[in-house]
Amino acid sequence: MNNENSWIRAKLQLTQASEKLGLDKLLFSMLSEPDRTIEVSLPIQMDNGSIKVFRGYRVQHNNIQGPYKGGLRYHPKVDMDEVKALAFWMTMKNAVVGVPFGGAKGGIALDSKSLSEIELEKLTRQFSRKLLDIIGAYKDIPAPDVNTNSKIMGWIADEYQKSNIKNQISKNELLAVVTGKPIDKGGSEGRVVATGYGGVQVLMSMLKKLGKSPKELTVAIMGFGNVGRHIAHFLQIEGFKIVALSDSRGGIYIPDGIRDTEEINKYKEEKGFLSGCYCVGSVCDFKNKEKLGGRDIKPEDILELPVDILVPAALENVITSDNADKIKARIILEMANGPTTIEADKVLNKKGVVVIPDILANSGGVATSYFEWYQNLHNEHWKEEEVLKKLKEKMEVASQEVYEVSLEYKTTLREAAYIQALKRIEKSWRSQNFY
Ligand code: NAD
Repeated sequence: MNNENSWIRAKLQLTQASEKLGLDKLLFSMLSEPDRTIEVSLPIQMDNGSIKVFRGYRVQHNNIQGPYKGGLRYHPKVDMDEVKALAFWMTMKNAVVGVPFGGAKGGIALDSKSLSEIELEKLTRQFSRKLLDIIGAYKDIPAPDVNTNSKIMGWIADEYQKSNIKNQISKNELLAVVTGKPIDKGGSEGRVVATGYGGVQVLMSMLKKLGKSPKELTVAIMGFGNVGRHIAHFLQIEGFKIVALSDSRGGIYIPDGIRDTEEINKYKEEKGFLSGCYCVGSVCDFKNKEKLGGRDIKPEDILELPVDILVPAALENVITSDNADKIKARIILEMANGPTTIEADKVLNKKGVVVIPDILANSGGVATSYFEWYQNLHNEHWKEEEVLKKLKEKMEVASQEVYEVSLEYKTTLREAAYIQALKRIEKSWRSQNFY
């Protein structure tokens, strides 16, 4: 991993795309810094009686397109610059996929595995109380990200509801304060699988342009959490051959193809890791390794395997100038946010690798968050089939738009995605007469 500052990279991406597009200078300045940054202190009593103080962050980058929207991340590396970059990418992503939201992000610096559920709940509830004035269905809408989930979103929604003592906020708006909620608490069907499912739709759209079929392509996926495990499942349904998977503890490589990633998912849910998970039928064990012709790999080894498609679905800054040259995949589908550093991007472009950028590839999550928010506000509940149908359409349209911009401006897909986002934001901004 590389420690390139994600916020510096985000600003460079903004500058380059703005220059190509000829973006209005005032709007450029507005997008160059977040509208608001918040840093809070979160002291909690741990289960052993000691007091520990955590730091929480929320960055509201821009709301020209609509209320601020973006996830909450619980990870030791969370800091203000990382959250600023992630919030900026949300502004761009929401504009690329065409949902009426601006961009935000937040998080707490912590190792969530070292906290008990009671400690996590206390911390989340306190964080929520400190954000009460700035969140809301039409202000800022958090969602899950790394190491956060529907249960955590449920705690936030609950704190927000408790704060409504004067009953000034309608029931629908109370629900729509966060997305990624449990289904029985107003969550949307399909939200859990949406980011992975959306990524597959983007990949399929781009493969059509390249004249390639899934049946002839091998895939390696880094990260087997919310995003990684669902994209693995949907890729397998489309006929791709998944040959490698990894998580933070290690990975497996089976050149002949992993038979069923759902079996691996079940194993990982039980054990907490996928290392050594060689499944024959429902028996997943190290002992099957030889039978399947597999081998164990270190988490980062997955990046350099001889595959057609690489899917980084873990954290940022994993594809760097140190390993970009060694990457053999011809297509990279960026399901994680910011997995590729600036220097690595240059190397990949030079090698002719097609990089499908994060702000397009993983935008299915927020598109479905929009569907959840919409259902909450309109008292509706759509079936999963309907959600995924709408999502597929949205991802196909966004992919087509980005592709066309890449041809028009003769740029990479990444730069095209930024140009497309900026075009849309500039149009909204002019129509609002804010300048
Ligand atoms: P998660 O916490 O559910 O999963 C992260 C996975 O990455 C885990 O399996 C973890 O073990 C693995 N990992 C961590 N370090 C690793 C390493 N060095 N090598 C290999 N694996 C490693 O998080 P998630 O929700 O799946 O998010 C993954 C990425 O996708 C993040 O960049 C996130 O911002 C982005 N993203 C998530 C969503 C969403 O809906 N969850 C939407 C858009 C983008």
